[in-house]
Amino acid sequence: MQFSTFAERYQRHSGTVQLMDDLGRARSAAGPVYMLGGGNPARIPRVEEIIQDTLASLLRDSTAFRRMIGEYDNPQGNFIFLELLAATLRETFGWNVTPDHIAITNGSQSSFGLLFNSLAGPYRDGKFKKILFPITPEYVGYTDVGLHTENIFDGRRPSIERMGANRFKYHIDVGALSINDSHGAVCVSRPTNPTGNVISDEELNTLHRLSRNAGVPLIIDGAYGLPFPGMIFCDATPLWDDSVILCLSLSKLGLPGLRTGIVVADPAIIHLIRNANAINSLAPGGIGPTLAAALLHNNDLMRLCNSEIRPFYQKKVRHALDLIDTQMADIPVRVHRAEGALFLWLWFEDLPITAQELYQQLVERGVYIIPGQHFYPGLDEDWVHRDECIRLNYAAPDSDVEQGISIIADTVRALYG
Ligand code: PLP
Repeated sequence: MQFSTFAERYQRHSGTVQLMDDLGRARSAAGPVYMLGGGNPARIPRVEEIIQDTLASLLRDSTAFRRMIGEYDNPQGNFIFLELLAATLRETFGWNVTPDHIAITNGSQSSFGLLFNSLAGPYRDGKFKKILFPITPEYVGYTDVGLHTENIFDGRRPSIERMGANRFKYHIDVGALSINDSHGAVCVSRPTNPTGNVISDEELNTLHRLSRNAGVPLIIDGAYGLPFPGMIFCDATPLWDDSVILCLSLSKLGLPGLRTGIVVADPAIIHLIRNANAINSLAPGGIGPTLAAALLHNNDLMRLCNSEIRPFYQKKVRHALDLIDTQMADIPVRVHRAEGALFLWLWFEDLPITAQELYQQLVERGVYIIPGQHFYPGLDEDWVHRDECIRLNYAAPDSDVEQGISIIADTVRALYG
């Protein structure tokens, strides 16, 4: 079968496809599987209960049911949700947000596809602009969304702070950073997938100042952050003004199946998203915003984040770190400081094989992780560190995390001999 050149981007190897494929394959595998790969959020009983109850009452209400399922939403997204979210952001953070500053997409992954391709690539004045990732490792899902044959990403190496015997933390190498008109936008996930890093307020304010001065928008990917799902375990102040594009999602609340992304940005960007929604999919899905509006209306959303979701993940991360510290005490491993999201990022210094080879060995033993080399969008230089790290998702049931970590320890111990 022959395709146009457009199809080439869907024919080459992609870390994102591997990741999503693994989730499917692991689901149907014959033997025991310990799924510490992928980005599935945890199942939290109290959260599921409230979501089921809220959905059940929407289903019983014939007007809500018809509007949610039986009609196309506005291409900018459900107005009731836009108004409620704008009010919440004004009241909670004092941001000057109106419904004109918010649009819904079919998942935040598609928000990035549209934003990156609208802000990077060829411009009418002949310039070719890129998306700057001021700190990598960064989210693997960004890597393959570029529609241009030329690379649209400019990724930077972090500086590394070694902490104690077995922790470390990445920082933005601010001294080496220049933001200028070769950049269409600056983008950072906070908390960061894959590392669990939360860039400090100081780092974020510096990025904000530098990008504002250069007239370049700052994209903050808050898929795990504030105001929801609030998976941040350290002090961190959220930031927004009309030079910031804040991307949010319902997925990590436990609702990835609803495919609902949210963009909070200048009305010119919202206008673009509205039109793209209409052209590409007529309208964004209606179930996610309707459910989220009901949760916001009842004040359940913030309550769930603060009293269920954050404490749940804090407990899970402590458990996973304890397991690593005890079972890998004799292995040269450092774990990135776990400040948020649902991942641990393990660095095996001088690992005798690559992280990709380690991944293959682990799959044979039923353990799925993500090898680290995929998480460097736009960083072209060789750097051995890329092949020494793996990402674990610790949201799986405790018994799977325990088995998985024990098999990883065993496998890596044998490698170091
Ligand atoms: N951003 C980050 C950092 C993510 O980890 C993910 C998913 O794992 C997304 C964006 C995309 O989320 P979704 O398309 O489910 O809204």
